[in-house]
Amino acid sequence: VYCNEPGDFHDEHVFPAGLGGDNNLQLRDLVCYVCNHDVFGPLDQELMRSSAVAIMRQFRMGLGRHDGKRSAPPKLDTRVTELFHPILQLYVEEEVLPGGRPHTRPQILFNGQDHPLIGSDQAEIDAFVDRLASVLASTAQLIVKEGRGREAVFHVTTLTWDGQQYVQNGVSVEKRAPKTGIWLEPLEAKSEGNKDCYYASRLFHRREGQLVLRALPQNDVAVLLTEARLVASQTQQHPPMIPHDISAPSVNVSMSMDMFRVWRAMAKIAVNHVCHEYGDSIVRHPTFGMIKRQILLEGLPPIEPKRWDAPQIEEIFSKDTRPIHVVMLWPAQLEDGTFRVCCGIRFFQTPFEGFVLAEGVPLPADSAPVIYLVHYQEYRTERFDWREYLLHAIVVPMFRAQQSLPPQ
Ligand SMILES: [Zn+2]
Repeated sequence: VYCNEPGDFHDEHVFPAGLGGDNNLQLRDLVCYVCNHDVFGPLDQELMRSSAVAIMRQFRMGLGRHDGKRSAPPKLDTRVTELFHPILQLYVEEEVLPGGRPHTRPQILFNGQDHPLIGSDQAEIDAFVDRLASVLASTAQLIVKEGRGREAVFHVTTLTWDGQQYVQNGVSVEKRAPKTGIWLEPLEAKSEGNKDCYYASRLFHRREGQLVLRALPQNDVAVLLTEARLVASQTQQHPPMIPHDISAPSVNVSMSMDMFRVWRAMAKIAVNHVCHEYGDSIVRHPTFGMIKRQILLEGLPPIEPKRWDAPQIEEIFSKDTRPIHVVMLWPAQLEDGTFRVCCGIRFFQTPFEGFVLAEGVPLPADSAPVIYLVHYQEYRTERFDWREYLLHAIVVPMFRAQQSLPPQ
């Protein structure tokens, strides 16, 4: 239905499984492998890991579904996640786990003469120290990545241990990153008033396994690695400090979002629902050509989606505070008898996003608005027509609430 290629076909979730989509609601044999795997997969990933929706998902969704291959817990793609540590009075390298739980990565902070070794988990701290001991040997390598994808090159600085300290020993440019080494990234200290003293260079262990040195520009990296080697060899004398529970932690998340890709991911979800609701012949109609090209990005440049503003509908959904996503299809009949098909999507409690999918669509004359409610904690979807929904979700609960009020 998207690209007109004759197969081979894959099942496509009408609503992404990773956001709570129902396994029983799939487009069967209608989406080809290339669209499903090469286009929609990365778009869904963008939506689920690098968007405002991704942050909500990290807080609202649990450990993922438990049906085998889709059991991976939600994950955020951030450039930096840091927590303000109230005891150290410093930002520290952090993760936001499912349910919004903060988790401190194992790390060394280079705070003047003080080099605290911290983390939320003792086993992770031990693994970090072991790894440091093997990487900070008689030589050590610092890697800086430049460029992206196939264009990327790696600037590798080699340092040698002279018995007391590391000494820089030359830089080379490589096409491949060395297997053992420490990734060097600049630490961007955001000043809050005149308080950029809240930042110290830090060396930490990513969950994925890399060692990363996020260094302030005024620090000499050879000195930092020398200090790190001392800390790693003296953990018996300096037992690691595990932070106490921090109530209402302040966490900075820095992430790059591609709003056009996020919009394409939403438009794909909308067109999937049209296909499910009105049948594949409607999605094959030429009036859907433009939106499908935008989703597949055939032909440039990208154009801004045509917005559908529906403040009254948004107002109604804002009263529905259940743990749901909403997908609404709104066919409006035009003077010539064809339809303009609009779609509104609300993920979690984020604002309702409405856009026009197609105009001049030959829908049956009695086509009425429909709502899909995705109960994301239960991976279950309910479908209502608009009037049913108003009655079921708004009028009946309101009536019940009034009944239970004490008589005046
Ligand atoms: Zn295709």
